[in-house]
Amino acid sequence: MGRSDMHDLIFDESFKVIGHNGIEEKFNYFLLNNVPVIDYSRGLRSVCGKIPLTQWKHYDGLIPNGTPAIFLKVEQDHDLNFCSLYHELGHIELGHLDEELHDERLDGVQIGIVIKAELEADAYASKFVGTEKIIKWLTFLLNMTQNKIYYFEFMEQKRETGLCEEEKEHLDIWKKSNQEIKLRIAAINKSG
Ligand SMILES: [Zn+2]
Repeated sequence: MGRSDMHDLIFDESFKVIGHNGIEEKFNYFLLNNVPVIDYSRGLRSVCGKIPLTQWKHYDGLIPNGTPAIFLKVEQDHDLNFCSLYHELGHIELGHLDEELHDERLDGVQIGIVIKAELEADAYASKFVGTEKIIKWLTFLLNMTQNKIYYFEFMEQKRETGLCEEEKEHLDIWKKSNQEIKLRIAAINKSG
């Protein structure tokens, strides 16, 4: 795992991008199985995708176009980081980035359906970090999404005008994400 092991993450490489606003940003990363793992602590959650992301107008090309990469939202608890890391690596190693599923991802959760890619990535991560830690990580994500829901619902009640359309969409996504995580935990408990 390069300069990092299961106890620490060392982002010892970096590249630059120019975002939509024309401002240069530097990202730190390390390589895991040749996959760049980028420190993405400013994000809402960890994700994976192909470089460059659409919001980058220009970047320095140190990582070739089309390279699958992991954007890791670093938490203080390293157990959580390694669960995120291996879940996202699972998506990449299992070829999920080439599937066009992303828009429909949360559509089925209200009727109890989680897309296969999520369950496969959880199973992949379980092999590296263990089922117990995956449950702990998913419970953390469950609480995080629940807090977002509480926040938007609080704002909805507090403001006379309620939520704007964008906020309503965010609330809807957090609710679906929350439901998806419950289903993922249930799937892991069922598989024993
Ligand atoms: Zn996933």
